[in-house]
Amino acid sequence: MKKTVLITGASRGIGASTAEAFAADGYSVIINYNKSKEKAEAVKAKILSGGGSAEIFKCDVSDEKRVREMTAFAMECYGSVDVLVNNAGIAHYGLFTDLKSAEWKRLCDVNITGALNASKAALEYMIPKKSGNIINISSVWGVSGASCEVAYSTVKAAVIGFTKALSKELGLSGIRVNCIAPGVIDTDMNKNLTEDEISFLKSRTSLNAVGIPSDIAKTALFLASEDARYITGQVITVDGGFI
Ligand code: NAP
Repeated sequence: MKKTVLITGASRGIGASTAEAFAADGYSVIINYNKSKEKAEAVKAKILSGGGSAEIFKCDVSDEKRVREMTAFAMECYGSVDVLVNNAGIAHYGLFTDLKSAEWKRLCDVNITGALNASKAALEYMIPKKSGNIINISSVWGVSGASCEVAYSTVKAAVIGFTKALSKELGLSGIRVNCIAPGVIDTDMNKNLTEDEISFLKSRTSLNAVGIPSDIAKTALFLASEDARYITGQVITVDGGFI
């Protein structure tokens, strides 16, 4: 039977690439989006034109009720939620001393509460089945910390703590929980960086390169696969050797 993956923030960037990679591997895909409806529809159309199955669902991951409605929609469409990729995220750049409490709250709501909401909702279906896979997208900044991205680094470090603790709680339920910490990946999230800033970040990697969304998508696909059956509670950095 076909497996189902639910990917939050799959209208663009890493999430969109992950949706395409799982579809190409035979998964039915729920493409979550918040604002970019047309882009989510384009991801769905691409998957359908390749012979795959996909549906889109609009919800802000910080809205617990809507997230529960999204997992119920996945069950209605495909009868299971086998893999959850908690990818939806927003960044924030600026001095810590200038951080406003509303900015901090929004970063927490989307990046960590969103992952908690979606995991809780998906686990309602995964635990009784005694199988499932959760993949959280953190960041190298959550591992190393970054100047002028203190709040973002903090919430991404929380994603790592969440991954490790949840993997311990869920191992006996047959559910694996892992985390990917991407380095600099060429997406909209980095579109405000200047060429000089990109060159500098590149020069800090062993490979002198930035990554592309499929670098993360393929790692997520591996972590969800049987080849990764003995891997749980891990943080996989995919960063060209940045850390
Ligand atoms: P992106 O191109 O900016 O895309 C962000 C995605 O998240 C979009 O699909 C967006 O959907 C969705 N999203 C944002 N807020 C949402 C919300 N409240 N509810 C549901 N969806 C929401 O970013 P990206 O680079 O692909 O990043 C994906 C993940 O990787 C993020 O968690 C990010 O922190 C992490 N990451 C990225 C990099 C990088 O260099 N790019 C490095 C390390 C980690 P809509 O447009 O529909 O609102």
